[in-house]
Amino acid sequence: MAIDTKIWTGPGRPAVFLDRDGTINEEVKYLGSPHQLRLIPGAAEAIARLNQTGIPVIVVTNQSGIAHGYYTEDDIQDIHNYLDKLLADHGASINAYYYCPHHPEAIVKKYMVDCECRKPRIGMLSAAAAQENVSLSQAYLIGDKRSDLRAALNAGARGILVRTGYGRQTEEELLREAEATGAALVTNIVDDLAAAVDQILASTQQSQPQSVQPPKFVSTYRFHRPATDQRYPHQ
Ligand SMILES: [Mg+2]
Ligand SMILES: [Zn+2]
Repeated sequence: MAIDTKIWTGPGRPAVFLDRDGTINEEVKYLGSPHQLRLIPGAAEAIARLNQTGIPVIVVTNQSGIAHGYYTEDDIQDIHNYLDKLLADHGASINAYYYCPHHPEAIVKKYMVDCECRKPRIGMLSAAAAQENVSLSQAYLIGDKRSDLRAALNAGARGILVRTGYGRQTEEELLREAEATGAALVTNIVDDLAAAVDQILASTQQSQPQSVQPPKFVSTYRFHRPATDQRYPHQ
């Protein structure tokens, strides 16, 4: 699939991008079968809470295991179907899945690409932004690796590091670097996906007060349009 890497700049809606391994499900190196899939405690419930707000939840996952020949794109489909089933048991769903099957040193030749979709590059994010009408500047990306944080930064989105998966290791590296350079650690770090969603929902409620209702009828829209600064007092 050709991916348009231009950042979507038009008006759009917010979204929550989720890394998969180590963020939604327990990290096992190169997860290639549904049998290996275990949800991180609280992850499904957290996704359900996002679903209730109507904010799109989009998975963006590097799957170089395909490039290395450990598993195939069909296996990824099976895994995502199974993940959907596990999430559905908790009333949760993913709006869209994006995965990068590539690697510059792939064993499987057709995946040997220095592509634009492998995080920290933003190909998956910008493709999703265009297809799901998402504004990246209003989006969050939650993940357990530096490549997730960098992808968020590169896309102009807000990154959140979770301490699940490789997250604690990532946090320690960031702390060591901050100490070495004397720079402040500005990364937003929380325990897990549930905590990240708490934070996102708290800030969303703050910036969009429930008391201001959108106009009910399209025909009267232009007469009743609330002032932008009334709806988004912090922007
Ligand atoms: Mg991960
Ligand atoms: Zn790729």
